Amino acid sequence: MFQKILIANRGEIALRIHRACQEMGIRTVAVHSTADATAMHVRLADESVCIGPPAARDSYLNVAAILSAATITGAEAIHPGYGFLSENARFAEMVEAHGLAFIGPTSAHIRMMGDKIAAKAAMRSLGVPLVPGSDGALNTLEEARAIAAEIKYPVLIKAAAGGGGRGMKVALDESEIEEAWRVARTESKAAFGDDSVYLEKYLDRPRHIELQVMADTHGNVVHFGERDCSLQRRHQKLLEEAGSPALNATERDALGATVTAGLRKLGYRGAGTLEFLYQDEQFAFIEMNTRLQVEHPVTEMICGIDLVKEQIRVAAGLPLGYGQGDIRFTGHAIECRITAEDPETFAPSPGKVTQYHAPGGLGVRVDSALYAGYTVPPHYDSLVAKLIVHAPNRAEAIGRLRRALSEMVVAGIKTTLPLHQRIVEDPEFQAGDYTIHWLERFVARVPEL
Ligand code: ADP
Repeated sequence: MFQKILIANRGEIALRIHRACQEMGIRTVAVHSTADATAMHVRLADESVCIGPPAARDSYLNVAAILSAATITGAEAIHPGYGFLSENARFAEMVEAHGLAFIGPTSAHIRMMGDKIAAKAAMRSLGVPLVPGSDGALNTLEEARAIAAEIKYPVLIKAAAGGGGRGMKVALDESEIEEAWRVARTESKAAFGDDSVYLEKYLDRPRHIELQVMADTHGNVVHFGERDCSLQRRHQKLLEEAGSPALNATERDALGATVTAGLRKLGYRGAGTLEFLYQDEQFAFIEMNTRLQVEHPVTEMICGIDLVKEQIRVAAGLPLGYGQGDIRFTGHAIECRITAEDPETFAPSPGKVTQYHAPGGLGVRVDSALYAGYTVPPHYDSLVAKLIVHAPNRAEAIGRLRRALSEMVVAGIKTTLPLHQRIVEDPEFQAGDYTIHWLERFVARVPEL
């Protein structure tokens, strides 16, 4: 097992990884920008190295500085967390070229799944159901028109290199296709330096359901069940649940069997998430994320496992040591993403946190790097805390979430806490009756927070 791991990230996820390492007796190296010198992940780590100025491209994306930090501290492995360099195949290659272990999949698999067209082609060959659409990249607008006419409008033009909901445009009918084609390509070129796009049928009332998988280097692949991440705004997740209120165990097991068999064939290693749209009792694959997800805690709560420890064990070459039949799902878990944003306009709200109180009690978990007196810097993602509850069933989990939200205090900055408080009171949410479009309508109809 590794003696020392460098955590190439910040905020709550850097802390999350540090905690797993501590429990395994592994020493940690934090890296940080000059804006994060007093951040909690730096305070708690065994060692820390400043890797550059505030802008992420000069610090958390600065590969040379991160590799130097690993070398001078004698770290044997790097955990990338999520975001930043976590899905950068070149980074994974360079980590390994420096004789260090990359805690994640092989660079070949990161590259394959990072290109959504290649990912869909791989899944098609493995028998995983897909959203209908173009078989590959679209070369011309005429091609887009022809496929859209065949599969019928509405359709979505999506960036092959897409992420974070960018480079995605809907065309409701023929009159909108040219504009969608143009905007998706321009956005994709600007955000990802690549204007390859493809086309998918736009599903009008799907849920977003994803499957958590884990594979070791000995041919064992298991899944840890599904998460329902349908509550989204601008294709960004806000609240997640495990399991999905819409799925039964038979459907989950069937999907899990197809997916794990496919990944075994592929020789996949490490943690991964396959994202699906689910409508009319049909699953359709949209993309695979080759890293730990923000919402992984809801899975940990219902499975009683630590996904970060599993990632580390697998990266060290250890076998999983259990099979699918050993994995049990207990109760229900819900996570609220609390961001430093205005709960009505979603404008960023960085600044000094004057008071901070995290809720507690049975079945309550808070993953956050906040503390009273901490200044949330303006340079990074606005996620400041994740509140996770676990209870024997969904109704009790909602009651627990309502109680925990009422105890939580983050003063000095605006956060999305009031929005979550409204969501838990909503009868449709309570009934589990929602699709990916529900939250946008909810935000529009709640007059004041
Ligand atoms: P990204 O990588 O940018 O997050 P995804 O392909 O994962 O993009 O899609 C993000 C979200 O966009 C999905 O969770 C879903 O809400 C919506 N979406 C994506 N594809 C479709 C589709 N074909 N029909 C309807 N909604 C879609």
